[in-house]
Amino acid sequence: MILILKKGVAEKEYNHILDKIKELGFTPHISKGVKKTIVGMIGELAERYREVFESMPGIESVTDIEKPFKLASREFKEESTVVNVGNGVQVGAKEIVVMAGPCAVENRELLIKIAKFVKRAGAKVLRGGAFKPRTSPYSFQGLGEEGLKYLAESGKESGLVVVTEVMAPDQVEVVSKYADVLQIGTRNIQNYDLLKEVGRNKKPVLLKRGMATTVKEWLMSAEYILSQGNYDIILCERGIRTFEDSTRYTLDLNAVPIVKKYSHLPVIVDPSHGVGVREHIPTMAKAAVAAGCDGLLIEVHPNPEEALSDGPQSLLFEQFEKLMLELKPVAEAVGRRI
Ligand code: PEP
Ligand code: MN
Repeated sequence: MILILKKGVAEKEYNHILDKIKELGFTPHISKGVKKTIVGMIGELAERYREVFESMPGIESVTDIEKPFKLASREFKEESTVVNVGNGVQVGAKEIVVMAGPCAVENRELLIKIAKFVKRAGAKVLRGGAFKPRTSPYSFQGLGEEGLKYLAESGKESGLVVVTEVMAPDQVEVVSKYADVLQIGTRNIQNYDLLKEVGRNKKPVLLKRGMATTVKEWLMSAEYILSQGNYDIILCERGIRTFEDSTRYTLDLNAVPIVKKYSHLPVIVDPSHGVGVREHIPTMAKAAVAAGCDGLLIEVHPNPEEALSDGPQSLLFEQFEKLMLELKPVAEAVGRRI
């Protein structure tokens, strides 16, 4: 249930509405838009109290959001959300934000080298996994906290914001000590305890689409985070499983305009995992920008043959540099900047 407030509602009336919601055992979720202010009172039993609010002086109307995702919907918040990830970097504003780096943090020197390179080429965020979700238990699992330290140091040295994956609720504390943005990977999209924990943590979250989830299920996962009071979510399309086997996954660029229609949350695209084949990644990165995404996540490695994970889909330095230049006219053509 959402409460649409009257224009210029008195502070006393506004506070009374919030107090009443809390008194009934709900959490008020506030959306202050340019045109209207909406207070969300979400929960199975909220509807019971409709009449209580309908008769309150500060309330214009009480209505429902039909979709299962409520706080993530455009009905709750009409204006697009801009997520501040630190260092003045905003995801969801006019500028397309490029996040780049290796799949996994391998060692300190290499990470600093990659960070400085991608920064010079125009990236704003450094990516790299310290806790790696690998299909095989025998594959490199990541450096853990040591890797997080290298990430924080490389971020500082290069002037980049850092995003890295968190795989379990009990890792949230340590990962948020070092990272600016917490990444939830495709395999954990429906790990509800993890979603709730990052929701309580309040650092911005990069929420990757599950490889087998619909857009609606993906938005329901965002709803878990929002319901805990963390509104700083960046969605990331990273490819889904289909019958097609010439690429690693099928990058679902349809999801970009669809998500933009359903939700106010920013959406970025990860062509590296979505395609999985180095030579086609620049093409799909440009297509993603043309489709209206707010940013890109790109894996970069100077020596992919030796990479400890995802070498075949990592762009070489020169390829990344070239891509960054090619993205400019595409961004401009759709009214964006890079
Ligand atoms: C990654 O970003 O390296 C990663 C493991 O991503 P995904 O969860 O999309 O597979
Ligand atoms: Mn990877």
